[in-house]
Amino acid sequence: MKALYKEAGVLIYDNIVESWLIRKEAKRMQCRVIGMWGGFPKKNGPCSGYLIQHEGFSLLVDCGSGVLSELQNYIDLNDINHVILTHYHYDHFSDIGAYLFSRLVNTQLGRVDEELCVYGPADEAMQKQVEAIAHSRFDSFNEKSKLEIGPFSCTFMRNIHPVETYSIKIECDNKSMVFISDTCFTPELISFAANADLLITECSLYEGMNGEGSGHMTSEHAGILAAQSKAKKVLLTHLPHYGDLNDLVVSAKKQGNPNIELAKTGMLVEL
Ligand SMILES: [Zn+2]
Repeated sequence: MKALYKEAGVLIYDNIVESWLIRKEAKRMQCRVIGMWGGFPKKNGPCSGYLIQHEGFSLLVDCGSGVLSELQNYIDLNDINHVILTHYHYDHFSDIGAYLFSRLVNTQLGRVDEELCVYGPADEAMQKQVEAIAHSRFDSFNEKSKLEIGPFSCTFMRNIHPVETYSIKIECDNKSMVFISDTCFTPELISFAANADLLITECSLYEGMNGEGSGHMTSEHAGILAAQSKAKKVLLTHLPHYGDLNDLVVSAKKQGNPNIELAKTGMLVEL
């Protein structure tokens, strides 16, 4: 597998990589972008989904529209037993129902014998949906929670968004990855993301737009967060379906952090 380039201690690979080899060989925490479109998927382009791995252990963060199909380019669905959902908007959770059903069928076929554990904000309807399917389990979290999932320590920050939504910090082997899910900009995000080895931040809007009503950030906000948190590597995600996406990067970099690029389906970042 060929590293495309290395910056700030973070290796970036192209997406033509045999995922089995990565899972067996990887000693470092790594993140694979499964999807990054905001609101709804593009043709062959899923919404929010990130595969976090360390020494063969896998955690999926968000399971938005299109994620379940794309995910299978990198890993067998039966090799993931833990899924965190940041909130219950379709672009972040709509594929979880299909994932639960796949676990039911694959358990009956003898292909897997572990539960699929789904974590999300407390929600009676979601809990019922998960627990109605055999071989699945639901646990809720909030801003006070610390979840230990395999090698990963997960902590949470409450976002500003029309429904209960959380950003997540995942720490492992003295490395940290922060995922800022849908939110308005708030200064508390800066301390939450401080010195992250990898910051993946929502960037739904172009500079000059107003995200306060919809609960989203502009590229200027994402740039301020990237610069002031001193994150070592930054990916812009939850991207809009209009305009020139490169303008988002140009705008964000103006705030002072040069290590910013667009998230892309298949991109692998090794921390
Ligand atoms: Zn969203």
